[in-house]
Amino acid sequence: KDGAVALNRDPHVLVVGGSDSSGGAGIARDIETISSIGLRTCVAVTAVTVQTHQSVTAVHHMQPGLVANQMRAALRANKVSAIKIGMLSTGCIIAAVAAVLCENPWIPAVLDPVLASSSGRQLLEPGAIGVLKRDLMPLCRLVTPNLIELAILTGSDLAVDDDDALRQGRRLLADGPQALLIKGGHATGPRSTDILLSGGEEPIRFDMPRLAGSMRGTGCMRNSGVSGDRGFD
Ligand code: PLP
Repeated sequence: KDGAVALNRDPHVLVVGGSDSSGGAGIARDIETISSIGLRTCVAVTAVTVQTHQSVTAVHHMQPGLVANQMRAALRANKVSAIKIGMLSTGCIIAAVAAVLCENPWIPAVLDPVLASSSGRQLLEPGAIGVLKRDLMPLCRLVTPNLIELAILTGSDLAVDDDDALRQGRRLLADGPQALLIKGGHATGPRSTDILLSGGEEPIRFDMPRLAGSMRGTGCMRNSGVSGDRGFD
């Protein structure tokens, strides 16, 4: 009956992002990752992509109002403890997502600044990078660039070492996110280091052996894992 549907009180992560037909990345990966740590998910789809593990052949983005309304409906239906944001596709979708975050400032948001697929297809229109930095990053508790995204977002060359990554990270932090998790997977060497940076505090390093081979969707999994971390807020 109208009005009789109760709020689902299990803690949910609201996943905002694109679908990937191959299942390698995007919202399918996010849902798997968040479920694996025992939390429930609700979703707002920003774009539908046609892709295999080798290439992206089509991207169809949603109307910005439809994205915002999916988010609002998900928030009405469930107790949302965190919002995980991935592929956004256009500047207008970024503005729509930012508007919903402003309506819900007490829910921590984690932004994975998805710019392109590993195969090289743009997943955010190039003119929207400024909008992402100006309108969305300052609303996010955590932004999680990999080294390539960090370089593009700061207009720099790819960081050559940890110190260089830290310098770029501090520059991006000045644009407003409360904290950054720089993902070191694109560096070389036997170990991979992620660096957590937040204003005025010493950087915290998460160092692990580098796994052999290349994998898809690792960025999505890392960010979903952080969004679903019960210790997050
Ligand atoms: N497709 C979608 C919908 C994504 O969200 C992402 C990354 O977040 C990708 C593709 C890129 O993944 P990969 O780097 O594994 O190609």
